[in-house]
Amino acid sequence: MPDTTPRPINLFDMKAQQALIRPEIDRRIAAILDSGAFINGPDVAELEAMLAGFSGAKHAVGVSSGTDALQIAMMAEGIGRGDAVFLPAFTYTATAEVPLVLGATPVFVDVAEDSFNIDLGDLKRRIALVKAEGRLRPRAVVGVDLFGRPADWPAIQEICRAEGMFALDDAAQAFGASLDGKRLGQWADAAALSFYPTKTLGCYGDGGAILTNDGDRAELYRSLRTHGEGKTRYAVERTGMNGRLDTIQAAILLCKLPLLEQELKNRARIAGWYAERLRGHVAVPGEQDGATSAWGLYSVLLPDAGRRERVQAAMKERGVPSAIYYPKPLHHQPAYAGAHAEGLRQAPPLPVSEALCGRILALPMHPYLDEAQVARVCEALIAGL
Ligand SMILES: *Cc1c(COP(=O)(O)O)cnc(C)c1O
Repeated sequence: MPDTTPRPINLFDMKAQQALIRPEIDRRIAAILDSGAFINGPDVAELEAMLAGFSGAKHAVGVSSGTDALQIAMMAEGIGRGDAVFLPAFTYTATAEVPLVLGATPVFVDVAEDSFNIDLGDLKRRIALVKAEGRLRPRAVVGVDLFGRPADWPAIQEICRAEGMFALDDAAQAFGASLDGKRLGQWADAAALSFYPTKTLGCYGDGGAILTNDGDRAELYRSLRTHGEGKTRYAVERTGMNGRLDTIQAAILLCKLPLLEQELKNRARIAGWYAERLRGHVAVPGEQDGATSAWGLYSVLLPDAGRRERVQAAMKERGVPSAIYYPKPLHHQPAYAGAHAEGLRQAPPLPVSEALCGRILALPMHPYLDEAQVARVCEALIAGL
C-alpha cells in the first residue's frame, strides 16, 4: 500500500532545505571548529562578496542581525536627537525601534492597501507637516518591502533627493526581490538584510547585512560594527557597537545561497497557485509593474475583520497553520504611542494601516510546499469564510 498520509503543512520549513545541504554545512562548520576563527573568519568576507554578486550592490557588509543592520546604517548618517525618521505604521517593530534607540523620532506613515507598502502621498504630506511644525528635521525615510514585495524605490529616492534625506531600504523580508530587473540593494542609499532563520535567506541564529553602492558608507559600516575602530584595532574613531556577523553563520549562509535562485522561483510558483485558487474569495497580492517579489511571506486580506478568528480556527482544525503579521499598527503599540504623539502634534490618522491589521492573514510560505499542500491550505481557508 502506498503511504497516503498527507504531508504536514508548516508556515516555514527549514528541514527540507537542510536535508539538501547538510553534508556541506557539517564540512564547513568542522573547518571553522578546527581553525578557531569564530570571529571575522574568511567565510565572512567570502559571503560578503557573494551577497554583493547576488544583489548587484557594490558592497555588502555582514552584521549581527537585521535590526543591527538598520541601526548601523542610521548611525553612519549621524541620525539622532531632533531627527524625524519616516517609516510605515504597518511593519515589524524593529523598523521603528531603531530610530528611537538612537534618540530620533519615528514618524509613522500610512501604507497603500494594494501593496501594503509606504503610501507616497501620505509620506509627502507628513514630511511637509514636520517641516511646518518646525520641531524636527526630516532626515530619513525607511521604506519596507513588506512580505517581500519591493516598495516604490524610484519614487522614494526622488523624494529623499529633493529633501536631502537618507533613503534606507528595510529589505529584511525581501532579499532577492527586484525592480526593473535590478535587485534590492541597488536602489536605496543602503539596504538592510536580515538572516533570521525564516527569511528568504536565513542562517541558524541571528545575522544580517547592509548592501550599498557607496564605498564610503561601506567603510563606515565596517568600522561601526567593530566598536568604531579605525585603521588599527585600538584606534577608536567613533562610537560604534558590537555588530559583527559570526563566522559560523556566514558559513551556513554560504551553503544556502546557491539554493536561493531556485527557491525564489519556487516561492513565485507557490504564490501563483495561491492566487489562482483564492482569487474571488479573498484579496490576494496583485502583480506590480516591473517588480518581482521575493515572497518572503504570503498574506491575503479577508473581506472583513469579523471573520478572521473563524477562518483561523477552520484552518487549524484541518491541520493548516496561519499567522497574523501584524495584529496592531505600530502607532498603537504602547512602546511607540508616545513617540507618535510627539512626532507630529497634528498627526493625520492612519486608516489603511489600522484596517489592514484586522483583516490580514499570512498563509504557509516556504520553497518546499507542493501543489497538493497549497490546495489543502486554500480549501481550509475557504471553508472558514
Ligand atoms: C525580521 C525583520 C527585521 C529584523 O531583523 P532581525 O534579523 O530579526 O533583527 C526588521 N525589519 C523587518 C521588516 C523584518 O521583517
